Amino acid sequence: MNQKNSLSEFGLLFGIIAGVVLGVICGFVFGEQMAQIKWIGDMFMNALKAVVVPLIMASIIVGVASLGDVRKLGPMGGYTLGFYALTTAIAVGLGLFFTTLFHPGTGLSYEGLAAPEVIRDREFSFIDLITGFVPSNIFQSMANTDVLPLIIASLLFGGVLTTLGEKGKPVQAFFEGFDAAMMKIVQIIMWFAPIGVFALVAGILGHYGGGMAVLNTVLQISRFVLTVIVGLSVHAFVVIPLLLYLLAKTNPMQYFYNMLPALTTAFSTASSAATLPLTIRCVEENNGISRRTASFVLPIGATVNMDGTAFYEAAAALFIAEVYGIDLHFGQQLTIFITAVLASVGAAAIPHAGLITMVLVFKSVDLPVEGIGLIFTVDWFLDRFRTAVNVWGDSAGAAVVEHMLPETVLNDAPKQP
Ligand code: ASP
Repeated sequence: MNQKNSLSEFGLLFGIIAGVVLGVICGFVFGEQMAQIKWIGDMFMNALKAVVVPLIMASIIVGVASLGDVRKLGPMGGYTLGFYALTTAIAVGLGLFFTTLFHPGTGLSYEGLAAPEVIRDREFSFIDLITGFVPSNIFQSMANTDVLPLIIASLLFGGVLTTLGEKGKPVQAFFEGFDAAMMKIVQIIMWFAPIGVFALVAGILGHYGGGMAVLNTVLQISRFVLTVIVGLSVHAFVVIPLLLYLLAKTNPMQYFYNMLPALTTAFSTASSAATLPLTIRCVEENNGISRRTASFVLPIGATVNMDGTAFYEAAAALFIAEVYGIDLHFGQQLTIFITAVLASVGAAAIPHAGLITMVLVFKSVDLPVEGIGLIFTVDWFLDRFRTAVNVWGDSAGAAVVEHMLPETVLNDAPKQP
């Protein structure tokens, strides 16, 4: 980054953080009235969502095609999935550990709980998820922002381009131009981020009755909220930085600072998918990771790697078991471990998705799904913390893969513009 760029990046970051802080203050001072500006935040989120599909498709196609040989994807895929599996497993372990340590469910009652509307009749099936990898209609997947089938289709398309020789070149050049245009659009959208995140934060506080009302709701299950925030903090500020330092030989503080625009946007939107354009931009432009690695690792990360969600799934299951006075033996805890990993992989990168896949975890050990009603009132709030951790974990993956990948995989590929 040159000096002018880093100055404007700093201004932008300052604006985004000021947006979040002012949003919280206004949510407290003006209460419900702030719900009236939610539409401004929605517009910002819509703009981000609008670029997700064309951006990830173009960037994956360009990334794969520029590798020159589709077989080089093997090591990249291996490192990506390996790192993401490791961090997800650690996150679930932390979820089990901190809930066992803090006992957030003691003294709470389950009287009168009902399963929230969003999870009723929403059976989550892992088989459906896997079947969905192969899209029957790619345009439908695009319209629904179904990222996983689009990743697979784009990998295939980019891979096939490498086998076409001269015939494939104009198509590749088209997507290169398209990709560059999408990144420019992301840059433009980012200038609206300060006002966008302000409206999102103030608007959501207003929507839930204002800052004081939200605080009261959160305090009702404060021990659980605290358990989640402490556990997620340990994952974000100890585990991920350690892995960044050990596996990517990167200064974690600098890397974190450079990711802040994306992390604050994740906090404000509660959606890793909507944040993805900013994640890609911060990883590449601020942290200097190659486009090829970022465009492959980050869309996969946003879709399958959700450390914060994985932590939350495990913590919520143990919490509700405690509220109902159900003792879970080792085998059941192991089942929760496995299903929490699967539920985090299966959760879509949108707000509340983790709550829906949580049903899978609950059913695996026969916990009453009505219990989810207890955390439903604070889910939108905790969603913001876990989404920021999800995005932080994804971006760490890009640094680790870039560092660990054998030189030959990246270096013989033709340079991109
Ligand atoms: N909102 C989260 C995300 O987009 C998913 C979740 O609900 O846990 O990453």
